[in-house]
Amino acid sequence: MGSFFKDCGCARPTRCPHPYTVRFRNGLGKQVEEGGFTTQDDAIERRTQIYVEKKRTAPSVAEARRELGQKTVLGTASPAATLSPEASCHT
Ligand SMILES: [Zn+2]
Repeated sequence: MGSFFKDCGCARPTRCPHPYTVRFRNGLGKQVEEGGFTTQDDAIERRTQIYVEKKRTAPSVAEARRELGQKTVLGTASPAATLSPEASCHT
């Protein structure tokens, strides 16, 4: 599973208002970060969702996505796109 953290650099990041970032490996084995989670619960929920999605993805599907992903992921991924479950279905 991935991890979550704050990259704001505050002395007491557990109490500051900055959002959490989740870091995980996607179905392509690529390390991805998603930011903008207001609370730790949100970050944990997203991390769990990613884990479940990865378990559901059949190896053959992951392979097809890997081939597609090499053409589309580089340079085109935006935080908004990676946050949307719908968008991730098309990559
Ligand atoms: Zn902070």
